[in-house]
Amino acid sequence: MANTNSVVIIGSGPAGYTAAIYAARANLNPILISGLQPGGQLTITTDVENYPGYEDPIQGPWLMEQMQKQSIAVGTNLINSQVIQVDLKNKIKKVYLDNGNIIETKTVIICTGAQARWLGLENENKFKGHGLSACATCDGFFFKNKVVAVIGGGNSAAEESLFLTKFASKVLLIHRRDKLRAEKILQDRLFKNNKIDLIWDSEIKSFNGEENINSIDVKNIKTNEITNILVDGVFVAIGHDPATSLFKDQLTMDENGYIVTKPDSTQTSIEGVFAAGDVKDKVYRQAITAAGMGCMAALEVEKYLS
Ligand code: NAP
Repeated sequence: MANTNSVVIIGSGPAGYTAAIYAARANLNPILISGLQPGGQLTITTDVENYPGYEDPIQGPWLMEQMQKQSIAVGTNLINSQVIQVDLKNKIKKVYLDNGNIIETKTVIICTGAQARWLGLENENKFKGHGLSACATCDGFFFKNKVVAVIGGGNSAAEESLFLTKFASKVLLIHRRDKLRAEKILQDRLFKNNKIDLIWDSEIKSFNGEENINSIDVKNIKTNEITNILVDGVFVAIGHDPATSLFKDQLTMDENGYIVTKPDSTQTSIEGVFAAGDVKDKVYRQAITAAGMGCMAALEVEKYLS
């Protein structure tokens, strides 16, 4: 086992870099494979105001660049490559890269994250961070006394709508059917809140505006009528997809494809394999919670190896 690496970290969001920083400082010589979207979800956001340590808002891509530099400065071996296959079942795990290399390692920390689902409309990329968001906790604060729309009918859409009433003057919850999927208790809170208007049986057809969104065209799918509605922001809350296809049939996952870990731990169903961040968390989904789990994973790896 002389040439076997101690730890390979897959993914380069806050969880991955934090795991790398802690593992490097524990002299574990971590290898971090940066993956398809280096820096993760924060690279497609703009202002970040809730990551502790910064008095003024910082930019998501800048924060990720700093995390990357810090992880390299303390000794992480960063590989800009994509993992195409893993073999986790044996004591020595194998990680296969798209450049043909195969890395052998005693432990793996999975930090591949999740991706918000988007509507797939024209202009969607242009307006991300300019009125369009998939995270009310991150961006709600920027819509004080503004009108916002939330898209979706599940728990996330309900929670985001309720949260946004703390800032927005009006929240329009737009759902494609006439029934919500959200839990009854959340539905009751929605219906009782006079800041929230529900728009049923409707889909967004377009986002309009110059630099920022200033209106949306909404189609009632029963009548086919299209209405232009003035809004300052749109929150898409139609679900997330964890990036776990690589680990299918090897690790235990829940019904939504999130990796299951032991309570209060990042330990997965296979010894020596740990998971941290949004790939195992569908509740908090914050940069700081992902970073915290990355730290936990590195400490658990250290303990496992000793
Ligand atoms: P979800 O339950 O899958 O709901 C997604 C919603 O978006 C559905 O109402 C769906 O409509 C709608 N939708 C999907 N694709 C759409 C599209 N292309 N255009 C318009 N609408 C679309 O997702 P989620 O709310 O993010 O929740 C995911 C999981 O996390 C669930 O298991 C949920 O219970 C859990 N969660 C729990 C909590 C909590 O316990 N506090 C909080 C958040 C999430 P249809 O209804 O028509 O399918």
